[in-house]
Amino acid sequence: MKVLVAVKRVVDYKVQIRVKADQSGVETENVKMSVNPPDENAIEEAVKLKEQGLAQETLAVTIGDDKAQDVLRTSLAMGIDRSILVKSPNSLEPLAVAKTLSKIIEKENPDLVLLGKQAIDDDSNQTGQILSALLNWPQACFISDLKIEGNKLFISREIDEGIEKLETNLPAVLTCDLRLNTPRFASLPNIMKAKKKPLDIIDISTLGIDTNPKIKVLKVEEPPKRKAGIMVNDVKELVEKLKYEAKVI
Ligand code: AMP
Repeated sequence: MKVLVAVKRVVDYKVQIRVKADQSGVETENVKMSVNPPDENAIEEAVKLKEQGLAQETLAVTIGDDKAQDVLRTSLAMGIDRSILVKSPNSLEPLAVAKTLSKIIEKENPDLVLLGKQAIDDDSNQTGQILSALLNWPQACFISDLKIEGNKLFISREIDEGIEKLETNLPAVLTCDLRLNTPRFASLPNIMKAKKKPLDIIDISTLGIDTNPKIKVLKVEEPPKRKAGIMVNDVKELVEKLKYEAKVI
């Protein structure tokens, strides 16, 4: 089995987001960037499948500018075998990302495609779903457990009512939840080894797809500042304030 993992470079989750002065988007210059958190779970799952002897080859793909090579090096240091950067001058919408991934999938022929459930920058939660439709492969989203027996996938996903169990066949597209596993840290020796692992670069213009945005961002604004709270002495005072001052109960 060959596993392809889609990895996005995003502003690190610990960074305090700043909006650009011209309100065209979020500031990414001189900001710490990292692997999108659920994509680390996708990488971890792919590496585990290789360690269990279920996968023979693992491949990480990112679509981004030259700097996005760093998330591929992180993926390689975590244990992925090889990687591809699809170089794109602009950041793409989920439809264009899914189209790009489908072109790479056509060439690479993986059996299983793992993505994060959601990118923490755009919070779109669309790429995996669109990709499965483009490929006409089954999909399971937000998976929190995966077992593979032969061609069969046994999947758990958390839903409001509890744990939903699904079964499907390879090839499939799965999007990973943070509960799926605990991503490993890349050790220093593995970071050194990752420098020698393959990282191929493909220019997006060679794939012959329409990546033009379908959505126009009008303006990005900071959320309104929260007003300072007040301290109350006891529950009685809290209830009175909610009832007679805030009039919410
Ligand atoms: P989204 O639909 O934007 O919330 O992203 C869902 C998942 O799609 C991410 O967790 C990644 O696995 C994948 N993805 C999105 N954008 C990219 C990208 N530029 N390069 C590689 N993978 C991506």
